[in-house]
Amino acid sequence: MKRIGVLTSGGDSPGMNAAIRAVVRKANYHGVEVFGIYHGYEGFIKGKMELLDLGSVGGIIQRGGTKLFSSRCPEFKEKKYQLQGIEKMKEAGIEGLVVIGGDGSFRGAYELTKLGLACIGVPATIDNDIAGTEFTIGFDTALNTVVSAIDKIRDTATSHENTFIIEVMGRDAGDIALWSGLAAGAESVIIPEEPYDLDDIITRMKRGEARNKKHSIIIVAEGVMPASKLANMLKEKAGIETRITVLGHIQRGGSPSAFDRVLASRLGARAVELLLEGKTSRAVGIKNHQVYDYDLREIFTAKHKADTSLYTLSKELSI
Ligand code: ADP
Repeated sequence: MKRIGVLTSGGDSPGMNAAIRAVVRKANYHGVEVFGIYHGYEGFIKGKMELLDLGSVGGIIQRGGTKLFSSRCPEFKEKKYQLQGIEKMKEAGIEGLVVIGGDGSFRGAYELTKLGLACIGVPATIDNDIAGTEFTIGFDTALNTVVSAIDKIRDTATSHENTFIIEVMGRDAGDIALWSGLAAGAESVIIPEEPYDLDDIITRMKRGEARNKKHSIIIVAEGVMPASKLANMLKEKAGIETRITVLGHIQRGGSPSAFDRVLASRLGARAVELLLEGKTSRAVGIKNHQVYDYDLREIFTAKHKADTSLYTLSKELSI
């Protein structure tokens, strides 16, 4: 293999740039050229790409977002567009593709492997919701962003003796809520994986009040309900007044943490090795601190599971 492509697709996450850099540098180290494909599958279909040399990925390891831009490209689900993209790759002499993105992007990659293009998936999403890997690129940075925001909100909550509800990202996966709740000492955490109990949340707040603690922090994952809905429920059921903060897209940005840079470097480099070993339809991931690879299809057949022991621990530590 003398020439490969790399693209970033779906929701962006901090550390995607570090992964691109690792792909380019590792491939160049082995004498393989890398073309950066712009705007995810949109650029793949149109053949919008450029040769990335060593210098072109200099100074990006610390930058959030993705140098190659990302997109959602619904038409890519149609085979005719997939074939069109494969034709563009053939014309450019590209024999393998590294796809950096989430599970939707991996589905796209899997379709391409069925049409004969070798693809390796590198998991990058702040939600940490990809089956087969313990951590995805961007999760740690998002977690640190959320924790530092909660710390700031707690300062004012304490001064004014308020209860704050903080809505964080996570449609189906509660990892951001769960880990940030534990790290910031939230009084209650609501995640999609566990049924919530409004009475328990109220009891916890009342218990705090009884020992003269008049502020509290409740974290809710967006997939369960909006913060505003929870605020209404607490008001109606127990007359509790709350303030709400929706953290929104700040969770997706920012300079990647050291952990994410290291993870992205390891996974990006391993993806290139797999292509050079002649492998296809694999994803790279991390398990027990070790980089490993697994069948792309596992992402569709298995489901990422939140570590619910953290949920129990969080409850125990915030009595
Ligand atoms: P993420 O990769 O972050 O999960 P999406 O779910 O939006 O993001 O997927 C990103 C892109 O991957 C989509 O816009 C589409 O181009 C492609 N994709 C998603 N699902 C499929 C599928 N079933 N078949 C082919 N391509 C897909």
